[in-house]
Amino acid sequence: MAGHSQTLEPFLWRAERIYPDREVVARTAEGERRQTYGEYAERTRKLSNALEDAGVKEGDRVGTFCWNHDRHFETYFGVPNMGAQLHTINPLLPDEHVRYIVEDAEDRVLFVDPSLAEKLASAYEADSFGSVEQFVVMGSDVPDVSLEPVVDYESFVGDNSASYETPDIDGEQNAGMCYTSGTTGKPKGVEYTQRMMWSHTVAMMTPQALGVEDSDVIMPVVPMFHVNAWGMPFAATAAGAKQVFPGPSPEPADIAALIEDEGVTITAGVPTVWLGLLEYAEENDVDMSSLEKVVIGGAAAPKAVIEEFDNLGVEVVHAWGMTEMSPVGTVANLKYDLEDAPYETKLEKQGKQGLIVPGLEFEVLDDDGNNIAWDGEEFGELLVRGPWVTTEYYNRPEANEQDFEEEWLRTGDIVTVDEDGYIEIVDRADDVIKSGGEWISSQELENSIMAHEDVSEAAVIGVPHDRWQERPVAMVVTPEGTNHERLTEELKEMLLEDYPKWWLPDGFEFIEEIPKTATGKFSKKDLREEFGDKDLIDKEAADEEAAPE
Ligand code: ADP
Repeated sequence: MAGHSQTLEPFLWRAERIYPDREVVARTAEGERRQTYGEYAERTRKLSNALEDAGVKEGDRVGTFCWNHDRHFETYFGVPNMGAQLHTINPLLPDEHVRYIVEDAEDRVLFVDPSLAEKLASAYEADSFGSVEQFVVMGSDVPDVSLEPVVDYESFVGDNSASYETPDIDGEQNAGMCYTSGTTGKPKGVEYTQRMMWSHTVAMMTPQALGVEDSDVIMPVVPMFHVNAWGMPFAATAAGAKQVFPGPSPEPADIAALIEDEGVTITAGVPTVWLGLLEYAEENDVDMSSLEKVVIGGAAAPKAVIEEFDNLGVEVVHAWGMTEMSPVGTVANLKYDLEDAPYETKLEKQGKQGLIVPGLEFEVLDDDGNNIAWDGEEFGELLVRGPWVTTEYYNRPEANEQDFEEEWLRTGDIVTVDEDGYIEIVDRADDVIKSGGEWISSQELENSIMAHEDVSEAAVIGVPHDRWQERPVAMVVTPEGTNHERLTEELKEMLLEDYPKWWLPDGFEFIEEIPKTATGKFSKKDLREEFGDKDLIDKEAADEEAAPE
């Protein structure tokens, strides 16, 4: 006998009984909102009843187009607990992608934030979302937008009964769905079963992953539309931790205030968020003493950020994941025998993407399909498998063929593995620069460049070159008033300390801002489109110095 299925419902069942008074706090457009797990659990049941009344059945999809707040969090349990599927949609995507995603997923009800209603309506007007029978605005009134039929959340949930009998749901029932942001083409839907979400939640709570305790105060800055805020709200509920949601478009000042006021111990987000917060904290008096861990993922955590947090007594937990993996795959915790290692060694390990999370397995294959050596030097493509790794995309047979090999997911990430088992991403397969047949890691170069104090952001792309096929060019953002000539010389000198001469970028372009994807990552696709064919290279230097040694 296998016992009761692995579903999300028991996590909330436990939180409601054991931590009825632990708080769920949100910064919203209406001001601060506070409730307890006791009240929260009741509202999720009212929501399940409301959805049932609206005709939502087991297996149906319910979409959200929302920032991080308490009502959005209510859908996290309210939808899966009735056997329906929560489909979180990224509101930063272009209209055309939003339309594609809603139509592909066939969402029946769509929850939308008041501040995003107009954006949703603009995707909606041009065409109609045929499957959507009800729009629900996340507030207590309805703004003037052309979404029909529409109701506000409080009226929708309103007087429904707070008792709801959860149906007997199988672990294989789909409970969640998220689309990859389409940095590499049309968005692809990934479905999460109850069992995938259950196993990811349990794994996240362990000290080998994020180590969540009931004494923690968890604030995901990573959006709830980005793979369930990396699963943090589920792990926090399972542990009975207090939760803080930072609301629509939080600025560094909002994040700082919430850390101070609510005593946040663990927070998480992409590197750009932390670059912004650290810059803000330099100019303003911010008390970060409650903060124990900052989880950084989605893109590589710059060493400078790890060091700056370290100086503040905050541990950076670098993590790597993918939409296809629910999403967390590796976490760069220090192994027991590295606790007393020299600072530089620790920093080096924390800067890597980390150790595979217990429960998953990986392989790294070179171009010929052979396993690479774990020496921190050889590299190849990372493949992973495990209980919370998907084995297919929704509705995309051609992508399935390319990205999966039976139960293995081909991640498209090029990595090394060191003697201690730490995985390091050297590049995205699409971003790696091939110069004279040899690989140059764009990510390593940009991380080194970003370690310079006069650099706010940097991205390195390959541009076509007659002789070497491709050469690296660095796009650099600096504070106002920086002397670019001096900085270029300093950067070259600095890079030469760590890298061979032929890795040096042949051009340094100073630009106002690095374009970002809908998930806040540097969009090298946009950079390549804008600058790929421009004359950015110092041709003489490239000819002389680009020969691999
Ligand atoms: P996409 O950006 O393709 O829409 P995801 O948001 O799922 O999809 O991003 C997954 C990719 O993001 C990974 O394959 C990897 O290239 C990159 N990534 C995630 N975390 C990290 C990290 N800590 N360091 C470097 N790259 C990362």
